Amino acid sequence: MKIERYGGRGYESNCYLIVDDEETQALVLDPAIDFHTVFRQRGKSVPPVAAILLSHAHFDHMLEVDDWREKTGAPLAVHAADAPALGDGEKNVYRLFTGHDGGTAPAERLLAEGDVVRVGSEALTVLHTPGHTPGCICLYTPGILLSGDTLFAGDIGRADLPGGRASVLMDSLHRLGKLPPETKVYPGHGPMTTIEREKKYNLYIGD
Ligand SMILES: [Zn+2]
Ligand SMILES: [Zn+2]
Repeated sequence: MKIERYGGRGYESNCYLIVDDEETQALVLDPAIDFHTVFRQRGKSVPPVAAILLSHAHFDHMLEVDDWREKTGAPLAVHAADAPALGDGEKNVYRLFTGHDGGTAPAERLLAEGDVVRVGSEALTVLHTPGHTPGCICLYTPGILLSGDTLFAGDIGRADLPGGRASVLMDSLHRLGKLPPETKVYPGHGPMTTIEREKKYNLYIGD
């Protein structure tokens, strides 16, 4: 499985293209930048997109979700607990950060803990990791964790936005800390890291 990172617009959210080794299919996680820009930066075509995934329904991770829906026709998938935020400018914090409402139409697929998301013959498992928002997820396959706004290199997500809760976030981080140390971590903002590095240097995820 290949994980390609594309820098977001303005708010520096990472958009990931997840492609199976044979490049038969792709998933887009957090479409903060538009389909055409990803295509251009990639320098070759994007394999058929099986699904558009959101690590959580915050506006900076879904800036171009409508563009991806239109260009690929792929279903949008979000954890059920964040589904109400998709079209709600207060809950998805569009209003807080931009002063106006924004969002997208309801998702075609609601995700839950333990769900499997397929890409070609490979798959990722949904880990429900609430705290930054009620419906935050991480995507995991041995060796790879896409951590959204739950865990960053040297930092963690905010718990002070609507629906956030610090104690719940700590439980989610504790859970991530139990993953194998060599697991590569691809966060919603900033550079990649590993579980081992975060357990050593990140105050919030140590034992
Ligand atoms: Zn967020
Ligand atoms: Zn974010």
